[in-house]
Amino acid sequence: MEGSLKLNIRRLFKLALVVSLPLFTLLILGWFLIPIFRAYIKEVLAFGFLTLVFFSFILLFLKAKTRKLLTLIAIGLLSLFNYIKLSFYHIYEVNLSASALFVIFESDTRESKDFLSNYFDKTNLLLAVLCLVVVPFVAYRLLKRINLKANFKFIKILAFIAIVASGYLINSSFKSENIVVESISAYKDFAALQEQLKSDLAKPTSSFIEVEKKTDYPETHVVIIGEATTSWHMQLYGYDRPTNPKLTQIRDQLLVFDSVITPNVHTIVALDKILTFSDYNNPNKTNNTSVVQLANQADFTTYWISNQRPVGFHERISSIIGTAADETYFVATSDSDDEIYDEMLLPALDLVLQKPAKKKLVFMHLIGTHGKYNRRYPKSFEIFKSEKENLKFKHKKAALLVNYYDNATLYNDFVVRQVIEKVRHKNINSYVAYFSDHGDDVYDTMEDYAGHNEYRATRPMYEIPFIVWFSKTYKANNPNFEQYKTYQKRAYNLEDFQYTFSDLSGITFKTFDSTKSIFSTGFIRKPRIIRKNQVYNNRLKKLEH
Ligand SMILES: [Zn+2]
Repeated sequence: MEGSLKLNIRRLFKLALVVSLPLFTLLILGWFLIPIFRAYIKEVLAFGFLTLVFFSFILLFLKAKTRKLLTLIAIGLLSLFNYIKLSFYHIYEVNLSASALFVIFESDTRESKDFLSNYFDKTNLLLAVLCLVVVPFVAYRLLKRINLKANFKFIKILAFIAIVASGYLINSSFKSENIVVESISAYKDFAALQEQLKSDLAKPTSSFIEVEKKTDYPETHVVIIGEATTSWHMQLYGYDRPTNPKLTQIRDQLLVFDSVITPNVHTIVALDKILTFSDYNNPNKTNNTSVVQLANQADFTTYWISNQRPVGFHERISSIIGTAADETYFVATSDSDDEIYDEMLLPALDLVLQKPAKKKLVFMHLIGTHGKYNRRYPKSFEIFKSEKENLKFKHKKAALLVNYYDNATLYNDFVVRQVIEKVRHKNINSYVAYFSDHGDDVYDTMEDYAGHNEYRATRPMYEIPFIVWFSKTYKANNPNFEQYKTYQKRAYNLEDFQYTFSDLSGITFKTFDSTKSIFSTGFIRKPRIIRKNQVYNNRLKKLEH
């Protein structure tokens, strides 16, 4: 043994201090960045245990060289975890949770780019320099001065016990604070959902639903799935800019539902609930059926026309559901970076409308008003250029992005109207339904934010347009039609859309529940549950956080 016990303990203590540098950084910076005291304490404790695991692991090895290498690796990893954690708190003011990671997994590369450019503001860059450069550098310099040879017999045993105990504590009490444990479990869930989607929903029909009644006359219906378009920026919903001139022209032919919300403000989780039987109580439902499968089973010929890229998980949810359709048209290819405006879907619609099938159901998935907003419309729709009157937050970026978003909404109005006119022209039994997967808050309620994010969820993200147009033949065939107009104020969570869809399309199936259809005389208003058991109420000025 080299040196006295006292000397060895001093060496170990120095090593412990160096390994704990990231922990000290969290202790100080976390105080400012973690908004809730209890969360702060939990984070510090969890990170402390993780540091102890790393430190003890280093002590299992007796050679000074090995210890040095392991210490450097440990500091690198701890610094990285620390940075990810702190920066996440800085941006979202919440813990980096499984569902947060889920959202990152689902983003496509382009979205990730947007995400990254939003993520790295000045504070965050400073954090990066501090956590990833300064702390490891200081640790490295200090480490050089420590003699790492301390080794007495019982240290290995102690280290081993510390690893087991800390590991147990992390796993039992601090799971959601540990980003390694959390990432692995989030990825597992994510992969499971993906598998389940593939195995259940990509098939043409589902064995979990039994269609009991279907129509037997010529009909063509279109369901338009919008993207990131909030009702808050739509003239039809009272916005103070003319963003819906085309739909306003035919306002008296439309049903405009004014209290419809999306179940989630992220595409994949929202569409999982809207287009299938998943809902708040059964998210990522197994033994599931989509509206496309339902239509197939009711003898419709189905078409899926999409302007969302069929790659990346974000797109894959819709392309998997779309795969069940008899014919699919993906206008946007994965390798092109060109902007493809939604009107490029119209030729595919023309083609489909000309086909001889007797009963058709067409699903159109738009790119809508998805950020980057200024890339969603052609030059001819650049109408809103000067600063909007009554802009809530008066700063340059808000003025600019609100203009972009309103132009995109204006263009979306044009596209939806075009679809209606094309279907009207066929002059048969038809409806066209339009909704958006979720909305964006474009400086409507927050001074510093444009986009959608469930951690900073606001009313504009939840409140979506739901609009239905009916052909003359549809109205003539439907004795209840006049009554429909009285339904426009019904409060509805679009997670029950399958029931509304079935009602509209004349489909009845075994487990059909008329209380969940917004078009049913039997409709029952129920609490609209979002997030963690929160009841949605549009009278609320702000959502709880
Ligand atoms: Zn979306």
